Amino acid sequence: SEDDKATSESLSVIGELAASAVHEIKNPLFSIRGFLQILDNTLSESDKRKEYVKIMISEVDRLESLTKDFLMLAKIKSDSKELVWVCELIKEVIELYKSSFEKKKIRFRLYMNDESIFLWADRDQLEQVFINLIQNAFEAVEEGGSIDIIVSKLNEKVKVEVKDNGRGIGPEVKDKIFSPFFTTKKNGTGLGLFISKRIVENYGGNIYFNSAQEEGTTFVVEFPIGKDH
Ligand code: ADP
Ligand code: MG
Repeated sequence: SEDDKATSESLSVIGELAASAVHEIKNPLFSIRGFLQILDNTLSESDKRKEYVKIMISEVDRLESLTKDFLMLAKIKSDSKELVWVCELIKEVIELYKSSFEKKKIRFRLYMNDESIFLWADRDQLEQVFINLIQNAFEAVEEGGSIDIIVSKLNEKVKVEVKDNGRGIGPEVKDKIFSPFFTTKKNGTGLGLFISKRIVENYGGNIYFNSAQEEGTTFVVEFPIGKDH
């Protein structure tokens, strides 16, 4: 619709601005963090100022995730499509999380009914969607929780489910989670799902979830497989 077109045009302008701003912001953040780390190491545990430094470090980390998410917004409009091997990409993302899963004692399982699924897409964008969903699942579960990823191909559609047995999504927030900057986390950016939704819809796909409080959440993304491959 006209509304969507206007939104996507203003987003691409925001995206371009964000891309150049992010590069300017990254370097100073990096050095601020480095010096805070040094300061942290020189202060003794009993020093009240150590607490302030810790807060500053965590806020700098938050700014860093924000800059990363903004950069991804900039990339949504870029068009470097290639044939992406979905199963391999998902395995790569899981590899990134391996040590975090181990540390939190998460029982992780991957199911695939078809290894040969390919999508004509921007690899970075697809990766970002899977990272966002897995990151959210990881943050939602308790220590010792479980995360399952189910990849399947059905009727010219690729379906990826990310299932966790975490805290679930409450009825009071379920209508807001795809809005930009909506977060229930202390250090969240609230951009992960917003960005993921834009990416998935950009490919003519769908993103939705089922959640029951205290039982867990399943996020589902579906992508149409083009007829040309
Ligand atoms: P962020 O992770 O930075 O908070 P997101 O856009 O990724 O931003 O998610 C928005 C909100 O949706 C989260 O703050 C959380 O409340 C909710 N949410 C998303 N995924 C899950 C999940 N798997 N389990 C529980 N809540 C979730
Ligand atoms: Mg998130």
